[in-house]
Amino acid sequence: MTQQNAPVEKNEILEVTFEDLTHDGAGVAKVNGFPLFVQRALPGETGKIKVVKVKKNFGFARLMEITETSPDRAEPPCPIFKRCGGCQLQHLSYEGQLKQKEKYVREVLARIGGLQDVRVHPTLGMDEPWRYRNKAQVPVGEDRGKLIAGFYAERSHEIVDMPSCAIQHESNDDVVQVVKKLAKKYGIRGYDDKKHKGTLRHVVSRHGKTTDELMVVLVTKGKELPNKKNLIEEIRKELPNVKSIVQNINPKRTNVIFGEQTEVLWGEEVIHDYIGDIKFAISARSFYQVNPEQTKVLYDKALEYANLTSTETVIDAYCGIGTISLFLAQQAKKVLGVEIVPEAISDAKNNAKLNEIENVDFAVGEAEKVMPWWYAQGVRPEVVVVDPPRKGCEESLLETMVNMNPNRIVYVSCNPATLARDLKYLEANGYETKEVQPVDMFPQTGHVECVAQLLHTGN
Ligand code: SAH
Repeated sequence: MTQQNAPVEKNEILEVTFEDLTHDGAGVAKVNGFPLFVQRALPGETGKIKVVKVKKNFGFARLMEITETSPDRAEPPCPIFKRCGGCQLQHLSYEGQLKQKEKYVREVLARIGGLQDVRVHPTLGMDEPWRYRNKAQVPVGEDRGKLIAGFYAERSHEIVDMPSCAIQHESNDDVVQVVKKLAKKYGIRGYDDKKHKGTLRHVVSRHGKTTDELMVVLVTKGKELPNKKNLIEEIRKELPNVKSIVQNINPKRTNVIFGEQTEVLWGEEVIHDYIGDIKFAISARSFYQVNPEQTKVLYDKALEYANLTSTETVIDAYCGIGTISLFLAQQAKKVLGVEIVPEAISDAKNNAKLNEIENVDFAVGEAEKVMPWWYAQGVRPEVVVVDPPRKGCEESLLETMVNMNPNRIVYVSCNPATLARDLKYLEANGYETKEVQPVDMFPQTGHVECVAQLLHTGN
């Protein structure tokens, strides 16, 4: 086979029209059919670009000038938008973001899942799509001997020092700034990931939106934390809402944030929050949705799709701290939740007690192992809810789910590509995707959450 040469060269300057937008916010221009990806360019715009990288089937270019502007273009309010890798879509109006996400979901379901005609609803968005995050996980480092804390620059491991983040709740911003200031005052060194030296690796802040409780987690390389006592005292003084100060020790050379060892330095082990009427205790390492307002929207939709009548047994696989399980339990006979992180299951059990919900049972383990075990015990749920991480469900789990033969499956997904792959499997095994609802849990970023309802087709 002859290998065709790319029609563009590195450093070439071109005038192009952008036709499309990738889910991570890059504009797509085509030169003789050869796609070039350009950050912060929008479909319908024309502009001058400089080619920076040419691969076999595609290339990357930098936007130098926009010559025709899209009516969907918005002025990004964040001063570090261009350097930070956190948000990809601030330059697109919110209306445009919601449309883009719906389009992306539809395209991926068709391309990967073979679901050309599936009903995809318009994305459910927020009235105020800023300052929604209840958790900040901010890397700490040093720049020429000065401690800095912020986000990683796009596609890199270089920390951009950050005074404030436009999608974080203000309280989380405050935590980061206070810890930064105090760490400097008490000579606590920032972590150098290249040399694997220093003390403070991450500041993690969690905020309960309805309770206003705060948790501060200091992730350190070793057990030692200089001036610990003063540090705790001053954090409490400066941040009166703090209910929990925790140290997590992560001695490994890794970009995984948390280590195995967690120690409460002051206060409680958990903070609390409500979604709807249900109260949740959340500990440092447990998964809890980051956008509490939209979580309610997401769970209400999941509950609607589960269509419960108080007589059903329901499985909630990948249940985290039992959030969806407890929502479901209000309308089911019995809910069984499974989750791999032991602390999350311990939170889930506490949360059931906290809300006096008794028709739930939680198991620790890999969902793909626990489900077959339940199946062998004769568990036959009418409804199965899954909410896996980005990589989606193991095929063995889908197989067990099909064997359990539920009437309905509710699939909650944070990655449309793996959702599409898994729906394809389920479609081939007796289920039909009735509808898919995208929910905007992550405004200003390219991420989109979906809930899908599948019904048994009777074969
Ligand atoms: N439904 C919950 C959590 C969803 S996030 C909520 O809405 O809050 C996905 C969860 O799956 C995480 O808590 C993660 O720890 C868990 N997880 C990841 N791999 C798993 C596996 N193989 N088996 C069970 N749980 C797993």
